[in-house]
Amino acid sequence: MSKDLSPGFRLGVPPVVDVFEFARRGQLMEGVFSVNRLDRLLEDVPEQPFAELVALEQPPQHPGLVKYLLQGRRSKVGKLQLVVKIQALLLLECQRCLGDLMFPVDRQTVFELVVRESDLDQGDLEDTDLDAPEKIMGSPTFNLLELVEDEMILEVPYVPRHEICPEPLGEVGTEAQAADPTAEMQRPSPFAVLGQLKIKSQ
Ligand SMILES: [Zn+2]
Repeated sequence: MSKDLSPGFRLGVPPVVDVFEFARRGQLMEGVFSVNRLDRLLEDVPEQPFAELVALEQPPQHPGLVKYLLQGRRSKVGKLQLVVKIQALLLLECQRCLGDLMFPVDRQTVFELVVRESDLDQGDLEDTDLDAPEKIMGSPTFNLLELVEDEMILEVPYVPRHEICPEPLGEVGTEAQAADPTAEMQRPSPFAVLGQLKIKSQ
């Protein structure tokens, strides 16, 4: 895939396509759209900023846009596949300090297109190959936007948290400051106590 923006770069959401045809022809589609088009995602995350729609070569550096790349292809054994790549920066709320958390999304999934529902995976017992593409039902009127949205939703962490919360310096009246920041430090960690016990017992 070339690094240059393809002439087919779309500003706007991915369309409804015949996804079998898309894969058969090995078509490629990439573009950028506003994260605010993803109604189901927005039920799970705080309000996202609006960003001007621009063609991005790099992953989005600010929240507001979703960059996607869809590649139809045929596997080595002739199965029709769809590669979905999404990149975004989501604005989430840290569940520890309640501050803003910038969460980078960079996900690539390979799907295998099946024709019938009965061709979908039958339970997990025999399907132990974790690298095998996930099977989805294809359609001549396949909604690529919904698939991209599903992929975005899967990336949202259940409990978003900073790895290290920023110090609430100079912020007045925030909830982070309401909690006594020294309380945590005065209490010895249970692991430190355990460590001391171990040393003593040796
Ligand atoms: Zn935090």
